[in-house]
Amino acid sequence: MVQRAGDALGIANPYFRVHEGIAGARSTIEGQIYDNFVSYNYLGLNGSPRVSDAAKNAIDRYGTSVSASRIVSGERPIHLALEEKLAAIYRTEDALTLVSGHATNVTVIGHLVGRGDLIVHDALSHNSIVQGALLSGAQRIAFPHNDMDELDRLLGQARSGADRALIVVEGHYSMDGDIPDLARLITIARRHRAHIMVDEAHSLGVLGTKGHGIFEHSDVDPGEIDVWMGTLSKTLSGCGGYIAGSRQLIEYLRYSAPGFVYSVGLPPPIAAAALASLEMMAAEPERIARLQANSARFLKTARAHGLDTGLSIGSAIVPVMTGSSIVAARAADALFARGINVQPIIYPAVPEQGARLRFFISSLHEQEQLDRVARSVAETIAELRDMPVDLTDLAN
Ligand code: PMP
Repeated sequence: MVQRAGDALGIANPYFRVHEGIAGARSTIEGQIYDNFVSYNYLGLNGSPRVSDAAKNAIDRYGTSVSASRIVSGERPIHLALEEKLAAIYRTEDALTLVSGHATNVTVIGHLVGRGDLIVHDALSHNSIVQGALLSGAQRIAFPHNDMDELDRLLGQARSGADRALIVVEGHYSMDGDIPDLARLITIARRHRAHIMVDEAHSLGVLGTKGHGIFEHSDVDPGEIDVWMGTLSKTLSGCGGYIAGSRQLIEYLRYSAPGFVYSVGLPPPIAAAALASLEMMAAEPERIARLQANSARFLKTARAHGLDTGLSIGSAIVPVMTGSSIVAARAADALFARGINVQPIIYPAVPEQGARLRFFISSLHEQEQLDRVARSVAETIAELRDMPVDLTDLAN
């Protein structure tokens, strides 16, 4: 289907491209070097010698796997060191890592609440949040994106019929590059006696001077949030998810969350890579400053060229709205031909009018590169907007 759609538009399949090395500000695909905007390597730590060395040393010491669930015989000192560092960031009593970010949301949300409870989540929440909510059996309500008045109103309607209530939001939205009003959300949650869970997948290393995420950016006490969640797959150069919270919460998950108890512990090289990434994030804050300056510059330049950057606040995620899936797909294809690798986000991943190109900015991008790419994107979209489309092949 994807291939037929591509053929009808005369474009190549933009999915599953094979990167032949480390994907940073540039990446090699089929022997060609591209300006790269599709990787979450926000601080350029994946592929840095210190992170790679840490992973190699962990392999030498522990092997590539812990060969069991941690509850059985899978615990290694590196897990505890990583969890201690994560807990320190959120100033929580403890933290727990799991082998997948997606599975972390599914298993933790699915496990913490259940029938008789209420989950209210942002309408643009990641699939893993929705899947966790569905698994839980709790009543599920999606509130309009970042609309705190509606959140307040919906909780007012539904809260009294539920035992417990959990509000789930992201600290930084991966499609739009915008953030919630965390201070307001906390006030609303307290009024309705609701717990709060925040997914920091795209905030750690991105928001705040120290890269500590939405609470640092919003100057909010992290202790106001009941469940901090994040991933190791973006800034932290690995894969996996984490939860940070009270000792009681973490202990409960450690002994009973199915995705932790019945799944293998993090591979040692991955835990070591994440730990080394956290250390580098703390030791080299200039990477965070560079990421923030790069993002702001790309946003400003794109806007100056007349591009619609949607809701982006200019922090690592910058969409360029095309208003049409066909224009997005064709623009990505034309840009690839010009040496720029960016993903089109098309219907049904977003509503048709919300089709876009999505740029992930990294601390490694150079200003010249960002300016040149913004110009190329504007030229390409202007050329394509009026091009006729013949989809007769697809209809047959
Ligand atoms: N939460 C959010 C907000 C995400 O964007 C993602 C993945 N991009 C995940 C969770 C899942 O994380 P992972 O890819 O590390 O499994």
